[in-house]
Amino acid sequence: MIQLHDTLAREKRPFVPQNPNRITMYVCGPTVYGRAHIGNARPAVVFDTLARLIRHQFGADSLVYARNVTDVDDKIIAASEAEGVDPAVITERYERIYLEDMGALGVRPPDIAPHATREIPAMIAMIARLVELGNAYEANGHVLFNVPSNAKYGELSRRDREAMLAGARVEVAPYKRDPADFVLWKPSEAGVIGWDSPWGRGRPGWHIECSAMIEAHLGETIDIHGGGLDLIFPHHENEMAQSRCAHGGIPLARYWVHNGFVDMGAEKMSKSLGNVVTVGELLEQGHRGEVLRLALLSAHYRQPLAWTEALIDQSKAVLNKWYGTLRDLDHIISGGTTDEVDEGMLEELRDDINTASAIAILNGLNDDLRRFRNDFVHGRPTALNKQAAAYMRDRFVNSAGLMGLLTHSPEDWFKGRIYNVSIEEAIVASVEMQSRVILGDQNIEQKIAARAEAKARRDFAEADRIRDELKAEGVLLEDGPQGTSWRRE
Ligand SMILES: [Zn+2]
Repeated sequence: MIQLHDTLAREKRPFVPQNPNRITMYVCGPTVYGRAHIGNARPAVVFDTLARLIRHQFGADSLVYARNVTDVDDKIIAASEAEGVDPAVITERYERIYLEDMGALGVRPPDIAPHATREIPAMIAMIARLVELGNAYEANGHVLFNVPSNAKYGELSRRDREAMLAGARVEVAPYKRDPADFVLWKPSEAGVIGWDSPWGRGRPGWHIECSAMIEAHLGETIDIHGGGLDLIFPHHENEMAQSRCAHGGIPLARYWVHNGFVDMGAEKMSKSLGNVVTVGELLEQGHRGEVLRLALLSAHYRQPLAWTEALIDQSKAVLNKWYGTLRDLDHIISGGTTDEVDEGMLEELRDDINTASAIAILNGLNDDLRRFRNDFVHGRPTALNKQAAAYMRDRFVNSAGLMGLLTHSPEDWFKGRIYNVSIEEAIVASVEMQSRVILGDQNIEQKIAARAEAKARRDFAEADRIRDELKAEGVLLEDGPQGTSWRRE
């Protein structure tokens, strides 16, 4: 069983999904206005590894993994004004580069990549609901979430009010009812990107984006919500409050998983401190994506990771050693004996994604294989026979593969023929994702209820339209004496 540390519970808990055939995971993705630094790459790699583990454990089709793209934001607007181009020029450029950089790190594209600018109606609907329920209010062209309206606010970050106000660096504005209130919608001046809304032309705040897109794509309660430690407050605290209030108190996520910071020596890495190294710079320096991935996975994901030259060199040495063992074994044994992974390594990954211990186990397998190879070529008695060695070799490669490592042939590795995931492939996948809405169970139930209402008022055209709409999403309805039941194709 997988154990995950849940930030809300402050402890490691067995991971029991709501529906093991449709596990839902949402990770807050990039704001696309500049190149990702290595600290931004850590959650992408960590949650990619968790996605691989879940698929290994529950089945290839068991997981729906959504990672959003924030493509409307004040920093994007500032960048577009500085360059004198449309915001879309900035966001398309940097989304493409992000996908390219993450592809180089062996990060598979998520199943769904919702874009904020394409989901404005869902955000407006959620904001309107919060206003109607009394959790939000309009003031001075803005809509604000009223923090005191939600008694559980602060539950995730466990901060007292003073710390919350300091941590959120909230703007003091005379129109706020409470200083902690945060923006759901703000006005856009003429010439600035905006959409019509009941509160005038404007644009959404960042937090509402995730709440609305989670509801639209995954449902009201998801299994795993992930991101970096820095998102706990205020972003996730705010997402949690909005969704809980909009959904009658039910929780947004069942497990909150957060990764630690990457630091350059002593300081946390951030653009404002200027101590940033981007993934692009590292790749341009000639470091291979798989080396960077191993470096990012070398510490437990909740621990801080010190990013140093020594860490990169050490990760490169480890991969050269592993690929070297595979190359040297090629003359002695052939692969293809099993698709199993090593149970010991799997146990470590199941234990709150303990990649550091998993890597130690892979090192142990490498050493056993190296010993076999040396004994064999020197004609000494070997601890393993050829068959056992071939089986161990395959388990070694499969286990590393589960972590996105040893994905090349030894020959390509040593000859430098390393091709990263094609950016074209990643873009195609992303476009397909955007046009594909995976309906959550609650959304389906809502549509079935709407269809029943349509039938009751004898609007059969509408009832048929809803049935066809669900069918197009792979949801089949069966009308029976007990009402309508549904199943996925
Ligand atoms: Zn988010």
